[in-house]
Amino acid sequence: MEKRRSIRPKISVGRHAGAVSINVDSYRPLVGDELIDELIMLARELSGVRICHLNSTALGGGVAELLSRYLPLLQTFGLSADWRIIHGTREFFVVTKAFHNALQGAQYDLTEADRRIYLQANEESAKLIGREYDVYIVHDPQSAAIRHFIGENRAKWIWRCHIDSSSPDPNVSQFFKPFIEAYDALVFTMPEFLLPGLQIKRVAFIPPAIDPLATKNMEIPIELCKRAIADSGVDLTRPLLVQVSRFDPWKDPLGVIRAYRLVKEAVPGVQLALIGGMAGDDPEGWHILEQIEEEAANDRDLYVFTNLAGVGSMEVNVFQRGCDLIIQKSIREGFGLVVSEALWKEKPVIAGRAGGIPMQFPEGYHRYLVDTVEECADRVLHLLKRPGDRGDFGRAGREHVRKHFLFPRLLRNELRLIKDLLHPG
Ligand code: UDP
Repeated sequence: MEKRRSIRPKISVGRHAGAVSINVDSYRPLVGDELIDELIMLARELSGVRICHLNSTALGGGVAELLSRYLPLLQTFGLSADWRIIHGTREFFVVTKAFHNALQGAQYDLTEADRRIYLQANEESAKLIGREYDVYIVHDPQSAAIRHFIGENRAKWIWRCHIDSSSPDPNVSQFFKPFIEAYDALVFTMPEFLLPGLQIKRVAFIPPAIDPLATKNMEIPIELCKRAIADSGVDLTRPLLVQVSRFDPWKDPLGVIRAYRLVKEAVPGVQLALIGGMAGDDPEGWHILEQIEEEAANDRDLYVFTNLAGVGSMEVNVFQRGCDLIIQKSIREGFGLVVSEALWKEKPVIAGRAGGIPMQFPEGYHRYLVDTVEECADRVLHLLKRPGDRGDFGRAGREHVRKHFLFPRLLRNELRLIKDLLHPG
């Protein structure tokens, strides 16, 4: 990993195969036998069912992160599951990023050209998707219209929305509704995220989760983490703050820099590392990265680590473990996997009060959720001065994540839903 390196992303096309094999029993000490035994039963009941997960990028962002480990896990339980990635031009991803923002509440002037670009790409992708599956799980708006273009079909279709679509731009929402209503079930992270005014056949609320056994989250000795961070040029005799996320206005990296500068007035030695990349389906990131790089150009304590579609899992793990505090100052958020990732590593997190972030915070620690740059700086200063509080927060966070936000729970929710759809009653 190099400081301030950026490479343009390629768009991924076609089928993405999970090549990892996972030992199911390794989850038992983490989540208990009861849950794993139920998963084995559910998988037996669903034996022979062919599942297809569908999204628009193999690289960057939470959905790709999740699917890259989730598919191998489904396969480990003996289920037949594939991950398919839809085709798209840069023009298509510019439109879908605008739709994503509009469903998250940004105003948007929906044009005829937008509709045409979106629908043409979905129609083309629909022709390429195999019809052999029993259940299709389509993630997010990019490929939501595929179900419409497939037409009459005996499979069950689930639309899995990862974003907060509770107050969408009305035109974009109107445009999407018929496509979404064609699904057999919708899944949102939490009830508050539901797109208003939908005629729904069935809805489930299922938060995402992290894989504690993935390279991103596995145990690494702290001394090793510190050595690796020092090798990248950071001075670990001084405090280090870290934010890991795509370079996206909703993640507010420029707000994080402003908060860090306020902290620096009181703690001159403090350092900030912004670790991130661009999702393959997110063309907006390059502009933000340029602004961040301008900020970093004259500040030796501000590090920007970036790479094609995101810094690697091992490096993210090392920085999350080796820093003093994690910041995730999102303004709008879907779930925010990085929060669970950090808490799982017993790292305290100061985060924006947005989307699925508050539910990941352990009870008694919601005072570290912030709405402004000033609040963020204030909470960072508070925790930097109190190593004992940082330890307590971290331990409470890990236990909360263990109970609620690890992969086996997500798998149970999803398999129960599939079972109910295929075998109602
Ligand atoms: N991530 C990464 N490298 C980066 C930036 C992010 O591996 O340079 C990972 C991060 O660890 C997390 C995911 O990408 O697993 C981001 O998911 P999240 O839900 O936090 O945000 P999203 O990008 O989906 O909005």
